[in-house]
Amino acid sequence: MLAGSFDYVIVGAGSAGCVVARRLLDGTDATVLLLEAGGSDEGVNSLSNPPQWVENLGSRYDWAYRYEPSPHVAHRSIPLPLGKVLGGSGSINGLVWARGHRADYDAWAEAGNAGWDFHSVLPLFKKSEDWEGGASAFRGTGGPIRVERARDLHPVAAALVDAGRSYGMPYLDDVNVPEPGGVGPMNLNVKGGTRCSPSRAYLRPVMGHQNLTVLTEAQVVKLTLSGTRCTGLDFLRDGQRHSVGASREVILCAGAIHTPRLLLLSGIGPQEDLEQIGIETVVDLPGVGRNLQDHILLAGLCFEAKRPLPPPNNNLAGSAGFWSSRPELAVPDLMFLPVQIPYISDAIGAQYPIPQNAFTIVPALVRPRSRGYLRMKAAEPNGPLEIQPNFLAEPADVDALVAGVELGLDIASQPAFRDLIKRRVVPPERMSREDSVAFLRRSCSSYFHPVGTCAMGSGREAVVDAELRVRGALGLRVADASVMPTIPSANTQAPAVMIGEFASRLLVAG
Ligand SMILES: Cc1cc2nc3c(=O)[nH]c(=O)nc-3n(C[C@H](O)[C@H](O)[C@H](O)COP(=O)(O)OP(=O)(O)OC[C@H]3O[C@@H](n4cnc5c(N)ncnc54)[C@H](O)[C@@H]3O)c2cc1C
Repeated sequence: MLAGSFDYVIVGAGSAGCVVARRLLDGTDATVLLLEAGGSDEGVNSLSNPPQWVENLGSRYDWAYRYEPSPHVAHRSIPLPLGKVLGGSGSINGLVWARGHRADYDAWAEAGNAGWDFHSVLPLFKKSEDWEGGASAFRGTGGPIRVERARDLHPVAAALVDAGRSYGMPYLDDVNVPEPGGVGPMNLNVKGGTRCSPSRAYLRPVMGHQNLTVLTEAQVVKLTLSGTRCTGLDFLRDGQRHSVGASREVILCAGAIHTPRLLLLSGIGPQEDLEQIGIETVVDLPGVGRNLQDHILLAGLCFEAKRPLPPPNNNLAGSAGFWSSRPELAVPDLMFLPVQIPYISDAIGAQYPIPQNAFTIVPALVRPRSRGYLRMKAAEPNGPLEIQPNFLAEPADVDALVAGVELGLDIASQPAFRDLIKRRVVPPERMSREDSVAFLRRSCSSYFHPVGTCAMGSGREAVVDAELRVRGALGLRVADASVMPTIPSANTQAPAVMIGEFASRLLVAG
């Protein structure tokens, strides 16, 4: 039997939600209800065994959205997976543990978010991790998430590191230095060879705690508002609608797509959008669902291997580099990685026959200028969404990725790849700028890092303040990837966990 009211109700047991639940239990006597739309993550090989992570795409553990087509991506509808299971996207993701660059967080603070500069959030990054390399000024030990370097690098991953070095990049023994620029083995959230997910690391140890109730297969559909105060919410479970109260706060940790959707369903969002779908506005917040950002991943530069490649290992990548598309940039805007199997878009696969024994080098734009949005097309919790990242709409993003293609091909031309590459498959030869741009539009994909749709800040478009409180509402916070005002220049799960730690510190301090 579910109690009628809890001190805190958390929506979504993902990367950030698991952190908030755990820290509230450790730091207060409060009662906590954690509601997760997906099911359990226990005993599922594809969730725990790193090289199997791609099997989760399109599975029951994936919400499986698609971005809206646009002419900038050759009218393709690009897949957007999101975790639907305990641990959220942190249970299905590619296990890369990366913080990004110091400048990413300094920019959040400079935009008016006090306390979010790199120096201030560094202790929270450190608190979350148990780094195999030991404690230092920049790395933490003893935290819940075990972080290790990728081991036994696959020949393709090892070649990428050597090729980057001979190209002139510094070797990064630890890619999580504050200002990464160079190439090295990835940091992965892995313990004893299995995924150390936010659910395994933060939630599982307290699952039996008397103050914690975790409900899976429970989809929150609406917040209860008394005036502008959030007093609880409604959720669906087993086909029934239930209501529950929150005497202190509701904390939205449903991620960059579902947190704005839940606010919109509850009448918190841009009034003109809400009117169009017949939802009465409670708080007119124009920024809800706007400012969508994602990294653009280019799938991929493909090479046939000279000799049979060993089976893929680690997270199918294993190493990575950060580099600039133009030498004058102060912060690298490109990330590049190997993929130990052929990873190409459907459009490119239809154009070129792809041999089995092949691998890819994948450039990604990690400081995109494009900004998108999401809109509900109907006032239904599971109704259609329009999610538009506006990939490649900005000429600067196109220029940077054209440079990314050149960089990838230059890396592949280094001596380290000479014994590995039989021939270039995609593209078969160096391309003119025009052909490169056409290639980008047909190949680009999502890096699966949507953020920013409930951005933190103080301007008219800001949805939460620097303490993550929803502006214009009471008793309601957001703690997940949606609050990032700008996307960090590396993968987003470590930053999402850090945001969970930030919110927890505020809640525990009371
Ligand atoms: C396939 C994939 C690969 C990725 N690879 C990497 C990687 O290698 N490294 C990296 O750093 N990042 C990676 N990411 C991104 C990273 O995992 C996310 O940025 C991060 O997990 C986001 O955390 P979050 O807490 O904001 O949301 P999530 O972790 O997505 O959690 C949201 C949770 O809320 C639940 N939920 C949503 N709506 C409701 C509702 N209405 N009611 C109840 N529950 C709800 C969801 O089911 C989910 O469990 C990847 C993501 C994906 C999908």
